[in-house]
Amino acid sequence: MARVYNFSAGPAVLPEPVLQAAADEMLDYQGTGMSVCEMSHRSSAFQDIIDDAEASIRKLMGIPDNYKVLFLQGGDSLIFATTFINLATNGKADYIVTGNWSKKALKEAQILGDPKVLASGEDKNFSEIPDLTNLDVRPDASYVYICENETVHGNRIWTLPDTKGVPLVADQSSMFLSEPVDVARYGMIHAGVQKNVGPAGVQIVIVREDLIPDDLPGVPTMLRFKTQVDKGSLYDTPNCFGIYMCDKVFHWIESQGGLEGMKAKNEEKATLLYDYLDNSDLFQPTVRPGSRSIMNVPFVTGDKDLDAEFVAEATKNGLVSLKGHRSVGGMRASIYNAMPLEGVQKLVAFMKDFELAHKA
Ligand SMILES: *Cc1c(COP(=O)(O)O)cnc(C)c1O
Repeated sequence: MARVYNFSAGPAVLPEPVLQAAADEMLDYQGTGMSVCEMSHRSSAFQDIIDDAEASIRKLMGIPDNYKVLFLQGGDSLIFATTFINLATNGKADYIVTGNWSKKALKEAQILGDPKVLASGEDKNFSEIPDLTNLDVRPDASYVYICENETVHGNRIWTLPDTKGVPLVADQSSMFLSEPVDVARYGMIHAGVQKNVGPAGVQIVIVREDLIPDDLPGVPTMLRFKTQVDKGSLYDTPNCFGIYMCDKVFHWIESQGGLEGMKAKNEEKATLLYDYLDNSDLFQPTVRPGSRSIMNVPFVTGDKDLDAEFVAEATKNGLVSLKGHRSVGGMRASIYNAMPLEGVQKLVAFMKDFELAHKA
């Protein structure tokens, strides 16, 4: 078996003990004589799994009782639309645009209603978070939308904006469960789990009860949050195996010291990488200090051919999926929860060697 250090932005590295436990249970889940992949979603064994998943994430994040937790399907990109459909009941919502994913969320809102852009970092190619102080939030906006960690551009909103009493909705996909979070500051948090928490195919929505409308005339059943709220995410067949894997990852995070423990480990890894990048003569980080993600770290040499050579050489050395997103170019190291410190140490050591070999 040859495991690599996988720096993919998503689907991404998962904790090895979780993969091993799933492998051990693949043919016979806890004496049921079948795999979770083969099991009825109406069985008591699966009900126990989804109940445990909800209880575990509630405990990890300290989710208040007046928030619902949903395990959905359709891609996090579908949540861009369903957020607007469910929460923007008067057709108005305000958006902060800090990269690829908030732009896509805005696009869905433009199809559906009347969004307003409060701030955008596009003029600086999203290399920093725009000024978010004193935003001109519409008092009747249903929510203010942010992508708290932009996977593609590698930026991060470190200080939540003052939304002037309007509920805040955050896409936390690529930072989900990477650090403690005060859920009560948000109206809704959503995340596709394939970045930091599990295999692709599950989206977790944490939404304040009072924001979920009872009645949405003209909206298909599966696009209403209320449908899955009423049925405990079991209105139809959920992604059973995905939820089972998420549950295992929740327990793994707990064993690592919970979200405080994850935060300390994630900061250590990011500091190691950024310190090297800031002092390197060959590589430059593309995001300014103060706006940097500690999950997704884009960097460039300034020479496309050299970037390509670096990615190819790194791959040969077991450091894979370092190619940057097509809209940014260069490289991107995603250093999620499950990336061990050793992986980042190996990456930095490899970059130092590469820099030495390519010094003019
Ligand atoms: C990957 C990602 C998405 C979209 O996820 P899909 O499940 O592929 O639709 C949305 N937001 C962020 C921040 C992401 O990183």
